[in-house]
Amino acid sequence: MSGKNISTRPRSSWNRRSDALDMTGQIGRDRTDTERRKRVRKRTPGAVRVCSACAAVSAEKRWVTDPETIARIRNAAGRAIEPTLCPGCARVRAGRVDGWVRLEGQAVRGQEDEIRNLVYNILEDSRRDDPVHRVVSWHTAGTKMEIETTSQWLAETIGKAIQRDLGGELDIRFIPDEEFVRVYWKQRG
Ligand SMILES: [Zn+2]
Repeated sequence: MSGKNISTRPRSSWNRRSDALDMTGQIGRDRTDTERRKRVRKRTPGAVRVCSACAAVSAEKRWVTDPETIARIRNAAGRAIEPTLCPGCARVRAGRVDGWVRLEGQAVRGQEDEIRNLVYNILEDSRRDDPVHRVVSWHTAGTKMEIETTSQWLAETIGKAIQRDLGGELDIRFIPDEEFVRVYWKQRG
């Protein structure tokens, strides 16, 4: 078993049905902290939210991750900084998994670096668009690779990109009741 585990919590902590997603990032915060945040919000309605885990920044509704925009927003005069968790870090911390990808074939062993680079690039592009898209865990064993993601879209996008580059068979199964997607890719031959 080799591979990289990006998860901050074991998978067992994940309960998709009962894990209410807290988009405000208040997971693990005590009451005092929440009250303090409310006071800050009351005093400065235009506060800039900054993710305390990944440094993503949100001045309005949209979260941004590119360093230049972050610097511009943070340096804007007269805006208070409000530490919180971005939607992606909140999901990772909660162990929320909405997508699962399994890649199977000799390419996983023989072209593992290429596959990893491809996934990293997709991940970076996706995060720039919306920090909610994250990889929660990543395991490789022999000719199989499994990736858990915080969004269905990311899992689907990874599967489609692998098929585009390496051919093979792609099977995408949405599980509507659970808002979950399983993506299977198998190399031919
Ligand atoms: Zn974050």
